[in-house]
Amino acid sequence: MAKKQFKTESKRMLDLMINSIYTNREIFLRELISNASDAIDKLYFRSLTDDSVQLSHDDFKIDVKIDKENRLLTVSDNGIGMTEEELDKNLGTIAKSGSRQFSAENETDGSDVDIIGQFGVGFYSAFMVADRVEVVSRAFGADKAYRWQSSGADGYTITEAQKDGVGTDVILHIKANTDEANYDEFLDAYRISELIKKYSDYIRFPIKMDMEHTRKKEGSEDEYETYTENETVNSMVPLWKKPKNEITEEEYEKFYHERFHAYDKPLRVIHQKAEGTTSYQALLFIPEKADYNYYSKNYEKGLALYSSGVKIMDKCADLLPDCFSFVKGVVDSEDLSLNISRETLQQDRQLKVIAHALEKKIKKELKDMLEKDREKYELFWKAFGLQLKYALYSTIGGQRDLLEDLLLFTRASDGKLCTLKEYCDAMPDSQKYIYYAAGESVEKLNMLPQAEMVRDHGYDILFLTDDVDEFLMQILHAYGEKEFRSISGNDLGLESEEEKKEHEEKAESGKPMFEAMQKALDGKVSEVKLSSRLKTHPVCLSSKGPMSIEMEKVLAAMPNAEKAPKAERVLELNGDHPVYTALCAAFEAGDTEKLGEYAKLLYDQACLLEGLSVDDPVAFSEAVCKLMQ
Ligand code: ADP
Ligand code: MG
Repeated sequence: MAKKQFKTESKRMLDLMINSIYTNREIFLRELISNASDAIDKLYFRSLTDDSVQLSHDDFKIDVKIDKENRLLTVSDNGIGMTEEELDKNLGTIAKSGSRQFSAENETDGSDVDIIGQFGVGFYSAFMVADRVEVVSRAFGADKAYRWQSSGADGYTITEAQKDGVGTDVILHIKANTDEANYDEFLDAYRISELIKKYSDYIRFPIKMDMEHTRKKEGSEDEYETYTENETVNSMVPLWKKPKNEITEEEYEKFYHERFHAYDKPLRVIHQKAEGTTSYQALLFIPEKADYNYYSKNYEKGLALYSSGVKIMDKCADLLPDCFSFVKGVVDSEDLSLNISRETLQQDRQLKVIAHALEKKIKKELKDMLEKDREKYELFWKAFGLQLKYALYSTIGGQRDLLEDLLLFTRASDGKLCTLKEYCDAMPDSQKYIYYAAGESVEKLNMLPQAEMVRDHGYDILFLTDDVDEFLMQILHAYGEKEFRSISGNDLGLESEEEKKEHEEKAESGKPMFEAMQKALDGKVSEVKLSSRLKTHPVCLSSKGPMSIEMEKVLAAMPNAEKAPKAERVLELNGDHPVYTALCAAFEAGDTEKLGEYAKLLYDQACLLEGLSVDDPVAFSEAVCKLMQ
C-alpha cells in the first residue's frame, strides 16, 4: 500500500515532536487519554438518542495496557471511532484546535520546546516517546476496521484491520533507551498510573489498568505471591465538581492549559456553584492573551456544556454574550434535559437563565479585578478592551449597563488609563463636558492645537486611538449626566459669557473676510470661522455635523470607501494670533490674491496638523518659498 504524505503543517509539527529534546515527554499520555475521552463523549451523547448504540454510561471506559516484552503501550477506548476517511483526515492533517494554534505561533526551530508542556499539542505528541504509532479504529456504524500506521515524517499508511468492538486502540511502539533519555519508564505500570493521576484524574470515564500487587499466600505466614487486578486509576470527579478549597491554583491552571490548549496564565479563574431555580457549576477562565485568531471571523466563542456530567457540546455560543467571547470554560447543569438537541438549545429557558447569570458573574469579576488588581485589569484591557468596545458599539449601546464602567481610555494629563468614572470624579466643578480627541496615536494627539485651550482650563482629555472609539462615543452620547465632546467638534463650552460676547463681535466683523477665504478655498471647507479653541496656534481644522475628520479617515480605509460620507470641514482661525492681523491687513487692502494664497497655506497647515496629507504638495512648497522671497 502506497505511503501517504502528511500535510506540510502536520509534518512540521511531527518533526518537532520526533526531534523534541523536551524532557517532559510524559504529556503525550494526557493527550491520548483526552482524545479517548472526547471520542467516548461523542458516542455517549449519541447513545442518548440512538438505540442502536447499545452501550450505557457504565460500559464506557478507557483501557491502558502495557506489553513490556514488545515495548508496547496501548490506549484503547470504546468511543465513536474513526472511518478510513476520518483516519486520513484527522491524523494526516494537523487538527483544528490546539495543535494548529501551536504550529501557527511557533516556527519549529526547536527553540520553543518549553512551550510544549503547557500546550495541548495533540495526537502527534505520541511521537515524542514512540518510534512507530498504530491506530486501529472501528467507527460507530461501520462494519470494517482500519489501521493507520506511521513511523514519523516519511508518511503513513492505512490498511484494513480486524477489530471486534467499536472504538480506537492507539498502540505506541516505545522508543529504545538512549544515552540521554530513558523511555522504559513508559512501560512501567506504576509510573503510568501515576501519570494518569497527575494529568487525567478528572476524566469522567474510568481509566483502567492491570496493576500488580502482592499478598500473603493463603495458609502461609511468610510466603508472598503477586497477583494482578484490573483497577480504575482516576477519581473521575471533574474539577468543576470538586469543592473550591480542595483545588490549588496549579490544578486550575493545568486544567486550563490542557482543556483549552492554552499556554498563558489565566488572569482570573471563576469557579461558581449556583443553586436555586436553576443550579449549575461553572468553571470559567479569563485568559491573559487573545487567541491568535481571536479578532478574526474564524474564532468560535462558547463554553463547553455538560448536563449531569455528559458533554452536550464543546462550544455552546449561547452561553456567552459577544462582549465576553474571550472567556473559556465549562458549564455543567443538572437542570438541562439530556434529550435536548443542539438545535432546540437556543430556545431553552434554563440555558438563558444560566447565560444571564454567567454574564453578570463575569462582569462582577472584571469589575472586581479593575478595582482591586489594576495591573491585571490593564493586561486584560490590552488583550480584550477592543472587544468590549466593539460589542458595545454593535449593540448600539444596548450593553451600556454591562460595559460602560469596564471601559478604559488614555487620559492626556498623565498618559495613564482611566475609567469614565475616574475621569468624571477628577473633573473641576466648572467642567461641563467629557472632552475627547480621536486620532492615530497618543503622541500625535498630544500635539493637537485644539488640545491646548482645553488643558489650559484644567480640563483633562481622553485620547481615543482605536478606530471604533469615536463611533462609540457618539452612540454613548454621555456618561451619567456628562456629555462627550470632541475637542474638534462644536462648542466646547470653554468661554465665559463675557468672552463669548467679545468673540461674537469679532466674528461678526470678520465675516466678509472669512467668506472671501472660503471662496478662495473652493469647496474644501464648508466654513471659515473665528476659533475659540486655539491658544498659541494660528489655525486648526474642525468639523460640523455628526461626522468628524477622524471618522472620515476610518471610513475611507474601509471597503466601498467611495460611498462613505465625508466630514464637513471647518477652518478655524485664532483671532489673537499675528497671522490673523496679517490676514485682516490683506483683506482691508483689497489684496484678494494675497488673501487667497494665505487661506490655502493655512488650510494646508491645518491639514498637516490633523495628520492629513496636503492636496497639492508642490503648490504648498512653492507657496512657502514665495513667502520667503
Ligand atoms: P484535537 O484533539 O485537538 O482535535 P488531536 O491531534 O489530539 O487534536 O486529535 C486529532 C483528531 O483525531 C481529533 O480531533 C479526533 O477527531 C481524532 N482522534 C484522535 N484520537 C481519537 C480517538 N481515540 N477516537 C476518535 N477520534 C480520535
Ligand atoms: Mg486531542
